[in-house]
Amino acid sequence: MAAEQCVADETIRPRRLDDFVGQEDLCANLKVFIQAAREREQAMDHTLLYGSPGLGKTTLAQIMASELGVNLVSTSGPVLERSGDLAAILTNLGCNDILFIDEIHRMPATVEEVLYPAMEDFKLDLVIGQGPAARTVKIDLEPFTLVGATTRIGLLTSPLRDRFGVINRLEFYSPDELACIVSRSARILGVEITEDGALTVGRRSRGTPRIANRLLRRVRDFAMVDGSGFIDETLAKKALLRMDVDEQGLDYMDRKILSTIINHYGGGPVGVKPLAVACSEEVRTIEDIYEPYLIQCGFLKRTPRGRVASSKAYAHMKIFES
Ligand code: ADP
Repeated sequence: MAAEQCVADETIRPRRLDDFVGQEDLCANLKVFIQAAREREQAMDHTLLYGSPGLGKTTLAQIMASELGVNLVSTSGPVLERSGDLAAILTNLGCNDILFIDEIHRMPATVEEVLYPAMEDFKLDLVIGQGPAARTVKIDLEPFTLVGATTRIGLLTSPLRDRFGVINRLEFYSPDELACIVSRSARILGVEITEDGALTVGRRSRGTPRIANRLLRRVRDFAMVDGSGFIDETLAKKALLRMDVDEQGLDYMDRKILSTIINHYGGGPVGVKPLAVACSEEVRTIEDIYEPYLIQCGFLKRTPRGRVASSKAYAHMKIFES
């Protein structure tokens, strides 16, 4: 089942910039940088992509590789435990290849230091031996493009951040853009969906394509088993309600976070740690996955003293503000 899901994910993932919906300014700029690099027959500048999970960072890295006509080598910050792990990858890169490092903010400091000369001069400083006999050997690398992805740009050290020539933030998508993504995915999955049906799924996808595609798959299940095989507005609404996704796209945990702040902490302010304990959730999950969308929707405010529920949150949760 997991393998089946992966295959479907890869089929749905856009392969060209023209199929990538939304993020228009970012895509327009990338198009220029890609074309310029192609014409100069050089590696593109190192690129940092940041934004919430599921907004398309990995997809863009893959698109950059295919538009540039180069290989993509993927890894992630937590996997690179020792500097040797990264050195092995760097020495195997071909000319102008892309090295994609997901969750780059989670790379250990010792590994990060290997990246500095590699990014700046395409050189690797290897220390051979130990103690007084140790010496440094410089190895030339093929020119390459590092594409780093992070959900937390604030956790990147400034020496690393400064070495990226292109820094792009991915924004949440509008309901119309998500509807467009849902219609495209439905076409690929071979399920019929009306415009209203796609918009209903799009509106409740927390501004995130990954969630839109996940909800589409589940709504498709309801259409197959309980419905007539195709997705319209009525079926989409019914299916999403059964999945506990409300009309704003908030799920069980989003609502639990808001109701905990309101009911247990008088609306806030409350620190993220006690909030995480009260919701039985990881601090990082709350910060990376739930909070950004609640803030974007105006349900939650981040203040120096902690998280505060807004009047909009009280209204949405149907609780009277005292
Ligand atoms: P991230 O790396 O930011 O966590 P991904 O690139 O893995 O996100 O995207 C998650 C899924 O959402 C992908 O499988 C892809 O199909 C879809 N997706 C993301 N962005 C877009 C987009 N702009 N247009 C169409 N589909 C998208």
